[in-house]
Amino acid sequence: MFEPLPFTEPGRWIRAGFHCHTLESDGGLSPAETVARYRRRGYQCLGLTDHRLVTPTAPFTDGSFLGIDATENGGDPDVIGVGVARPAPAEWSLRERCRALAEQGGFTIAAHPHYCAVQPQDYVECPELMALEILNAYCDEAYANGVAVELWDMLLGLGKRIWGVAGDDAHLNPKKRYYSDAGRGWVEIWTASLSQEAVLSALKRGAFYSTQGPRFRSIALDEQGVRIDCTPVREVRWRTHGSVGFVEHASEAGPLTTSRLPAWFKAKRYVRIELVDHQGRRAWSNPVFQER
Ligand SMILES: [Zn+2]
Repeated sequence: MFEPLPFTEPGRWIRAGFHCHTLESDGGLSPAETVARYRRRGYQCLGLTDHRLVTPTAPFTDGSFLGIDATENGGDPDVIGVGVARPAPAEWSLRERCRALAEQGGFTIAAHPHYCAVQPQDYVECPELMALEILNAYCDEAYANGVAVELWDMLLGLGKRIWGVAGDDAHLNPKKRYYSDAGRGWVEIWTASLSQEAVLSALKRGAFYSTQGPRFRSIALDEQGVRIDCTPVREVRWRTHGSVGFVEHASEAGPLTTSRLPAWFKAKRYVRIELVDHQGRRAWSNPVFQER
């Protein structure tokens, strides 16, 4: 039996990003230009995560777009706080910084874990760490260390309840090693309204997924287990802790738009679902946890 999923309330998917930089730190565009670029790419929600400071987003919020104040806090390993008014001192431990950001009501994301050369235990010992940056598009393009999906499974296997977040780390700056544009990796959040309170609540409950392009239309539980509907893809990959796993491949009949956890699949701790589209782009659901 699985824990109830957070998608049962009425809502809609919104596109959101929580890792980009502006001229306030080492980005190449002003906050207004950065927001405009993201809005043109279909985002309805954005946090400007300049280093060690909070760039105000209130001027950019209107009926169809929500800015959420955020920061790439600083410190090693680094952490992003979403929905916070100020960073914590960078010299504090990861645990202390996460606690300080969480106490402000923030959602905490471990930034580019492999760039920070972490060990899984660094995150397990951090109860207020809520999410892991499973894709950092800038680190992937510039340093070949931006993918942390296997680390995510290790943490989940150790019993850490942690969500997965894809981010651009966009700098939009020709002087950086890579321009790292907007829209390389983002989250789709299931929310009833475009308010900061609703979005932060959805993030903390795991009511979102991460993607480079393919979309989940629904992730649901029924008497037979977990079932997903999605945009047309080449593979649906079902993953759990350990040796059991299942990849459903598209057939000559056409791409996959739905998949179901097979009855024989013995999940251990959790299952999570990956989509792979015909361009090789991926989407990652959050883990669906087994009841304890
Ligand atoms: Zn960054």
